Amino acid sequence: MRIMLDPGHGGNDPGAISESNIHEADVNLDVALQMAGHLASNLSHLCRLTRYDDTFIALGERCRIANDWGADVFVSIHCNSFTDPAAEGFEVYTNRELDAADFLASVMWNGFRQAFPLMRGRVDLSDGDPDKEAGFVVLVGTRMPAVLFELGFLSNKMDEARIASFEWRAKAAKVLVDAIREWSLLQ
Ligand SMILES: [Zn+2]
Repeated sequence: MRIMLDPGHGGNDPGAISESNIHEADVNLDVALQMAGHLASNLSHLCRLTRYDDTFIALGERCRIANDWGADVFVSIHCNSFTDPAAEGFEVYTNRELDAADFLASVMWNGFRQAFPLMRGRVDLSDGDPDKEAGFVVLVGTRMPAVLFELGFLSNKMDEARIASFEWRAKAAKVLVDAIREWSLLQ
């Protein structure tokens, strides 16, 4: 299976910036690189990243890279931010179509819930699964199942402390890779 990992933002677009100056783009890249490291040990998967360093890649270009490569799945990694510092938790998005991405999103969401029981899992249960639906460019412009995972809120003290921890990010990367592996076995 060809797995395209997409660390959000980069270069002149740092993404969200926390009070203690953690840049979302750096977190996204760190987690995606750790995920790639895990996936490299499994010969049945090929893994690529849309960026390997702190460079700017336009959203359409990220889709093109995945489409041209013929990726089987696209996983975008992000952190959230909101004006209200009380907003917290992880969440996962798919596009509004029903495809294999919805199941992957559920496996990821449930894996995160189990791994981080003290963290809030944000949901939209209106359609029967925990993922949220959105028309993000990387979700509608990619021709394979695509999910966008928001690790937590950099604007929230508790989430920021988690995200700042190398151990937490390592565990998060492992949980997401385990979810991809579990999902891939059922495709
Ligand atoms: Zn982002």
